[in-house]
Amino acid sequence: MSRIAFIGLGHMGGPMALNLVKAGHELTVFDLVPAAIKTLVDAGASEARSAQEAVGNAEVVISMLPASKHVEGLYLGEAGLLDQIAANTLVLECSTIAPESARKVAQAAHDRKIRMIDAPVSGGTGGAVAGTLTFIVGGDADDLEAARPYLEKMGKNIFHAGDAGAGQVAKICNNMLLGILMAGTSEALALGVKNGLDPKVLSDIIAKSSGRNWATELYNPWPGVMEHAPASKDYAGGFGVDLMLKDLGLAAESALNARASVPLGELARNLYSMHSAQGNGARDFSSILNLFKN
Ligand code: NAD
Repeated sequence: MSRIAFIGLGHMGGPMALNLVKAGHELTVFDLVPAAIKTLVDAGASEARSAQEAVGNAEVVISMLPASKHVEGLYLGEAGLLDQIAANTLVLECSTIAPESARKVAQAAHDRKIRMIDAPVSGGTGGAVAGTLTFIVGGDADDLEAARPYLEKMGKNIFHAGDAGAGQVAKICNNMLLGILMAGTSEALALGVKNGLDPKVLSDIIAKSSGRNWATELYNPWPGVMEHAPASKDYAGGFGVDLMLKDLGLAAESALNARASVPLGELARNLYSMHSAQGNGARDFSSILNLFKN
């Protein structure tokens, strides 16, 4: 069993860390929010008072933070972790961030002989709790093999997308599509309901017809259609509107860099931006339904 430092215990990092504790690993955890640390300590992890303290004795470091600026700050900022971590330590950076940030941090790690991969995830909070996440890895194939036993305790599917940063590129493409399909599903459900259909009946029909998708199968945006979906919990938990907005912004940046056209991604980004500006930034992204419903 390994000594693992886990930093960032939010909606995703919390349950991911819990699965590693359940697998028998020795975890030292840190988050800026004390309540998030307490949940892990109650499950058997050790508390660190800082990220620097957490990595002191670690063989493996895992981070799950909101965005590029948090990841660059953690590893490269003042008292940055790359100057605290021993050579040969394995670092799994699981946040969704800009590919350029992932490459910059990975290069700085490799300069110090630290093994680092980008390993963003898909599968939502349900997948994090169940240990069925999809990991989309960028980096060296040997480092992925070294990481595989840990990834397998948190996920079910592990893909090697390519070199450093490639995991982020693939994740951004996936999430642009997710943002579009959640907005499209919301639009279709609102249209049906405004024309007199029951949202549950319409959802059942779409789920078995050609419009079916991840939202209609697992994450329906209409309250009450799926008991376990964030929509049925007043859009609490899940994947925040502002995190989706961040990912659609990363897609727009990637499109600019590569001179690609992403008209639907840009429309979706504007819809989530309006929704966030109306005070919904912290709600689950499926609350985009309210733009169409109200
Ligand atoms: P979250 O906001 O719930 O959690 C982030 C955690 O990081 C918070 O607890 C915060 O306190 C902590 N944090 C921030 N800066 C820190 C620092 N310097 N040191 C220690 N802790 C720090 O976010 P989340 O929903 O868990 O998402 C995390 C990442 O995973 C994001 O990049 C997101 O885009 C991605 N993601 C989320 C989902 C989802 O369904 N929520 C799915 C796939 C990927």
